[in-house]
Amino acid sequence: MKHEHYKYLLLKVVDGVASAKEKKEFLTHIRSCEECRAEYGEFKNLEELMSSIKLKDLTEEAREVYWRSLYNRLERGLGWILLSLGAILLLGFGAFMLIKEFIASPTVSLILKIGVCTILGGIIVLLVSVIKERLLVRRYDKYSKEVKL
Ligand SMILES: [Zn+2]
Repeated sequence: MKHEHYKYLLLKVVDGVASAKEKKEFLTHIRSCEECRAEYGEFKNLEELMSSIKLKDLTEEAREVYWRSLYNRLERGLGWILLSLGAILLLGFGAFMLIKEFIASPTVSLILKIGVCTILGGIIVLLVSVIKERLLVRRYDKYSKEVKL
């Protein structure tokens, strides 16, 4: 009868639903009762095993989230590059059209023609430079992550 009571307390303690009084009562009992102590130890080991498994699963999940985010960033990087290339093509085309019109127009002064050409050329060079920078950042980013893993 008495042992049944402590077995019941053991389950409550293991499940974490025992009151402070019940837990104290049980812990006092296992100091003198080897059988309950051994059983409690087994439950503790099981609990540790369970939590270590949970931790492992969590790590797996975290790794999956990490790879997904890395893939997303690479994808975003590629999107950014395509967007930049498209912008350069459109700007280049626009610039060509402007230059064609400016050059064909006899009312536009030579200095204005040169100024417009220089500004458009500068914009395109800046865009190309930014793309190069982004590519280098991506490459470095990927490298540093690979080293960490
Ligand atoms: Zn006992």
